[in-house]
Amino acid sequence: MPLPQLSDDDILIQVEASVYGPPERTALAERTPGGCGMGLVVDTGERATHLSGKRVLVGPEKGCGECDVCRRASVVSCPHGHHLGTGADGTLASHVVTRARWACVLDGALSEVIDRAGPATALLGREAALAYAMLVRASVAPGEPVVILGHNIIARFLVELALRQGIKPMVLTGRDPAPAPASSAPDQPHADNTWAAWLRQRDAIVVDGTTMDGAAIAKGGAVSGWRGMLRQAAADAGHGERPLYLFETTATDEGRSWASALAGPAAKLIFLAKSAYSNPDPGDAARGLPANMPPSTPANIIDAVCDHDSAILAVAGTHPDLLPEIVALAVRGELDIAGAAALTTPDGIAAAAESLRRDPQRPPRQIVVHDL
Ligand SMILES: [Zn+2]
Repeated sequence: MPLPQLSDDDILIQVEASVYGPPERTALAERTPGGCGMGLVVDTGERATHLSGKRVLVGPEKGCGECDVCRRASVVSCPHGHHLGTGADGTLASHVVTRARWACVLDGALSEVIDRAGPATALLGREAALAYAMLVRASVAPGEPVVILGHNIIARFLVELALRQGIKPMVLTGRDPAPAPASSAPDQPHADNTWAAWLRQRDAIVVDGTTMDGAAIAKGGAVSGWRGMLRQAAADAGHGERPLYLFETTATDEGRSWASALAGPAAKLIFLAKSAYSNPDPGDAARGLPANMPPSTPANIIDAVCDHDSAILAVAGTHPDLLPEIVALAVRGELDIAGAAALTTPDGIAAAAESLRRDPQRPPRQIVVHDL
């Protein structure tokens, strides 16, 4: 591509690492995909010269920063902005252009994240940032009952972020068959380290559907069976009947339907926007969601929320001003970014995706591309 013309507040970044997730997998051809990344600033507009030569982390948001929507803290939905990888060319390329004002400079104490996580640092720009934004939006107090729905990278980061805030999340698992024996996956030295084991090691509460009482399902159906398990887990954790905070991370109608069916009275449902993290692989979406959901429509979901006096809080992105806080968490080791990344060069993306698909019981990881 020709070298782009930079406006006053633009920076040209030589990309060192970029994330390949569901939005990239299903990206349309008219724009270079890639919603977040990390790299070196190699050229700047007139008002951004202070960033020259700096290493920066960027997320998808490119809001104008000037309009009323941006000033009311919703840079994500700025009517004048674009998102990297959809409205503007993204980070899965040698170079990317974005706004200087939203770049998180990785210098000083924040530069230590590179020693800890290397290219995986790119995950902080979107995946970790979305999980962080969901928790911020919910403003959950320590000790409140939190339920996480989904088996994906956002759910993984949510678990870590919740635990550091003194919240012991309940995570639904158990749709998948029993994990394969270690010998069947010779390329995975820790094939026995399943998602459930990972959760238990970290002191999260596993609500394991495979232990569901068959009689309960026969009597009331799968929804009632899962509701009973969730109620029991909350009671065992000392939450009594307090209203739940339910985080739905798959951004699918099926996931939202489950969330609204399970949340119960006066709940808060935190939904991730499809525009923020759309189109999970159908297998990925199904994992972490209970099986046998009765068909549902957006109208049913809204009815369930209204009938239960509940509320939906939506997250369509992360305010870029939050990025330094999120990087600081990784610097302090409170978010395992390196362990959440499957590193590859551009040539290896397909093989990396296949390798992740072969071992669905593992803690979720996301592909991070380097050497672009
Ligand atoms: Zn704006």
